[in-house]
Amino acid sequence: MKINNVALGGVQVSVFANQGAVIDAMFDRLETQGAAVAFSMNAEMIILAQHNPDYLALTRQDCSLCFADGIGVVKAVEIKSKQKLPRLPGCELWEALMKVAGASNIAVFLVGASAKVIQQTQQQLKAQYQVSVVGYADGYFDNEQQLIEQIKSSGARIVSVAMGSPKQEQFIFRCRDAGIQAIFMGVGGTYDVYTNNVKRAPVFWQKAGLEWLYRLLSQPTRWRRQVNLLRFIGLFLQKRL
Ligand code: UDP
Repeated sequence: MKINNVALGGVQVSVFANQGAVIDAMFDRLETQGAAVAFSMNAEMIILAQHNPDYLALTRQDCSLCFADGIGVVKAVEIKSKQKLPRLPGCELWEALMKVAGASNIAVFLVGASAKVIQQTQQQLKAQYQVSVVGYADGYFDNEQQLIEQIKSSGARIVSVAMGSPKQEQFIFRCRDAGIQAIFMGVGGTYDVYTNNVKRAPVFWQKAGLEWLYRLLSQPTRWRRQVNLLRFIGLFLQKRL
């Protein structure tokens, strides 16, 4: 499967026309590489990759697929590739993937978030999309090795992990290195949003490309993280990404 990439600070961001194209690419990677690891790329993760060479290396593995989630990344890739690109929010892509899993009876394992949220997530997925959830664990486990063994023996073919970056990707690659053959997706705060424990920006804000601002206003303690969007814009304008 031929995928066009645009480099942003060393991260290869793939140019995908729509959600379906990313999901097709995930299944293709699973078949050809034995695993697929999807990264929802936003400005914060590009900046993280500039300071953390190990994380950058993970984004560049043969099984990795980085798609443009945040508005900053979408605009930067549009400028570099000279083509229009849709924003592909990770939480929407994950839900589309869960729908496919339910319809095709693909086994899913869920990791991350609080015990309450992960419990609600698995129940909601079973009721809404008839997803076969073969196991789940919150993101505050003590025995990682035991969890990896549990995922391996569950036979899951899709594993989504909501622990924030780079924690979720580091965990995913330890699962991959333990021989788990699956589509992995790092999904940050997605389960919190899916279960309505955290509110996403209203559609107007999303369409205006201001979801980041809504999040900043509703969770002001995130300002330190949001500064990375400004850093990203600064580096991009100086042609250092
Ligand atoms: N989280 C977790 N384990 C940890 C740290 C965080 O499960 O050790 C979960 C947390 O409960 C929340 C999510 O990770 O559900 C936070 O993701 P973040 O806010 O970083 O998401 P993003 O900004 O990427 O959407």
